[in-house]
Amino acid sequence: MHDAIDVAGFWAGFRLIETRSLSATHLLVRLEPDERTDPRCGRCLAPCGLVHDRSVRRVRERDLFDQQVWLEVPLRRVVCLACGVSTEHVPWLPARSRLTARLIAHVEVLLRLLPLLHISQLTGLHWHTLRAIDARRLAREVPPPDLSRVRRLVMDEFALFKGHRYATVAICADTRQVLWVGEGRSRKEIRPFFEMLGPAVCAHIEAVAMDMNTAFDLEVKAHCPHARVVYDLFHVLAKFGREVVDRVRVDQAHALKADPAARRVIKRSRWLLLRHRGNLTGEQALKLDDLLAVNAPLMTVYLLKTQLKELWYAPNEQQAQLRWYEWQQLALQSGLKPVVAFAKRLSGYVEGIVASAIYRLNTSVLEGINHRIKVIKRMAYGYRDTDYFFLKIKAAFPGKAR
Ligand SMILES: [Zn+2]
Repeated sequence: MHDAIDVAGFWAGFRLIETRSLSATHLLVRLEPDERTDPRCGRCLAPCGLVHDRSVRRVRERDLFDQQVWLEVPLRRVVCLACGVSTEHVPWLPARSRLTARLIAHVEVLLRLLPLLHISQLTGLHWHTLRAIDARRLAREVPPPDLSRVRRLVMDEFALFKGHRYATVAICADTRQVLWVGEGRSRKEIRPFFEMLGPAVCAHIEAVAMDMNTAFDLEVKAHCPHARVVYDLFHVLAKFGREVVDRVRVDQAHALKADPAARRVIKRSRWLLLRHRGNLTGEQALKLDDLLAVNAPLMTVYLLKTQLKELWYAPNEQQAQLRWYEWQQLALQSGLKPVVAFAKRLSGYVEGIVASAIYRLNTSVLEGINHRIKVIKRMAYGYRDTDYFFLKIKAAFPGKAR
């Protein structure tokens, strides 16, 4: 016979009967039901006097300093007149859970701050368990897509964990809410998004921003009769950087084989050439000017890159069209093969580029989403669960009030 300590404030409905060290770092707390109150039905919460049987469940509580705390909880199965036999309702212990509500709440706070792997090391909980807690939290917190006022969309694709597999994300351009994420990037694979929107919402879509070379444009035209496809500046500039600036830079470095010092300068100039000029320090800007002064082809592509951007800032569609013709003439006359090839390829997309003058779909939305998806992927470490990954993306872009 031992004296029971009343810990009703801590483990409501139970009394502490024993505390014992299992090891230097593990503490066991044994509880017993407080018989002064009837247990409640686990389904309808009605008090039930009739106990069917008991079984002891061992559960994790929040740590006490450096001690892992384990509880031994005898749970009663009760006979409810309405529901039949069910395990009793314990307010601080979710049904079937091996973690107390207090520990789960603590883990949920950590999940907002730290990568899964760190939390696993910190708490000793398996990442499987952590992921399940996080997925439940996100399912609870992520708001459903607000389709009521969707007018302008941004669609983009991104690589999944295992190479060569892609997924597609669709965002409301105005609220920045991620409305939909799905595996794949083919017309068939993105169709469920438009089916989710339904014909009424699709009919109100005015513009959809996207990368060139995707299957998105055809699917948009098939579902959204009034939508204009807009090719977005972020992707076009990135492509220009990869396919033109990098190519010319490598060619120029190659041509300078006889002059190792000059060659090195060009090989190291990638960052200077691709970076927005406004983001360079005074010293870096001088370096860039020196480089461009001695290398005419690099100067040409640099100027073409700057001027290409101006297309997206045209005050109207006519101006954008005019700027496009000017840019195309300069590009074709540059005599630089990668530039000419790029200009020819771009001419197939002119309508969507020019449309950007009317539909100002801020490119930073896409840049931001691209960046966040990379960060979420990096934080993911051990898991390769697509549903969970998509939920994380939706949680990162819950939308904002208009
Ligand atoms: Zn019941």
